[in-house]
Amino acid sequence: MKPPEEDDAGTLPDSYNRDRYCRQTLLPEIGVEGQRRLKESRAVIVGLGAMGSSAANFLVRAGIGRVVLIDRDLVELHNLQRQILYSEEDLNRPKAVAAAGILHKINSSVGIETHAEDLNLSNAEKLITGADVVLDGTDNLQTRFLMNDVCVKHRIPWIYAGAVGTGGMVMPILPGRTPCFRCLVPSLPAPGMLQTCDIAGILNTIPALIASFECTLACEILTGQFGTGDGTSYLVHVDVWRQTFDRIAVGRRADCPCCSRGRLDFLDPVSREMITTLCGRDAIQITPAAPMEISLEELETRLSRLGDVRFTPYMLTFRSGTGEISVFRDGRAIIKGTRDEATARSLYARYIGL
Ligand SMILES: [Zn+2]
Repeated sequence: MKPPEEDDAGTLPDSYNRDRYCRQTLLPEIGVEGQRRLKESRAVIVGLGAMGSSAANFLVRAGIGRVVLIDRDLVELHNLQRQILYSEEDLNRPKAVAAAGILHKINSSVGIETHAEDLNLSNAEKLITGADVVLDGTDNLQTRFLMNDVCVKHRIPWIYAGAVGTGGMVMPILPGRTPCFRCLVPSLPAPGMLQTCDIAGILNTIPALIASFECTLACEILTGQFGTGDGTSYLVHVDVWRQTFDRIAVGRRADCPCCSRGRLDFLDPVSREMITTLCGRDAIQITPAAPMEISLEELETRLSRLGDVRFTPYMLTFRSGTGEISVFRDGRAIIKGTRDEATARSLYARYIGL
């Protein structure tokens, strides 16, 4: 059956969309009023891998009015095992563009906005503000910390989600009402501590299941029905291979750097680096929030006037007085001789100059 003609504004007649959503409006949880609210909503999906493409598929079919797609990657062959919006024809195309093409065919009445770019400090506020809900389709903590800062600052609900191996987790974050992401994960773990799909692999059913939870939570939030009452939130963890399901209460941290102390580290160009104290050593590691490339050659010229500099192709070590700073090309630095975050930050700012 051919869809009816669109009007001048490019929208289909109401009767057509009522029929399209009739199985959804029958539900007491949605109803006609809920469907109207979904149509008036704007959802942003950050990352269009397996979780993000499943989430986009659900939201567009459910009739969310506007869906914003953000992804920096191209479609690769090994993505096709689980990233349901792409086919072999899409190989080497930007995921955001390929996804928008198929989503428009699925539901042409949804406004789809496409950004084939990396979400980072320079564009995050511009791309996320104006959203009614933000869905996590990313694969890294740095982007999640940035999303958390933007959403806490602008009071936008967002849904944290992750999947690796045969398991996944999801937690809704409503700034001002529930714990934020940094109540759950206060700072970046040391490099190599986290499992990733590149190392551990991933079963294709788990991201789809986690996206189902994400989109259901999004519908609850957008129709005004989400509420935890006591300010507690729940992290849901599912292992699809073992058929286990855990619901873990998460409380708000009184010392949360973001939602309690109001520090938006990932939105602050001066102090955007994150800090991790290395266990068992008198040293602090600083990892920049946004990817960067440092010229160690230039840094060597600059620092050799101030102290002792040792330089290898991948690392530069600078010693002055009792302190020692080792800097890597990606901006990561290890500052020895202190356990104080503020001292480490100021040494980093002083000698590396960010
Ligand atoms: Zn918090």
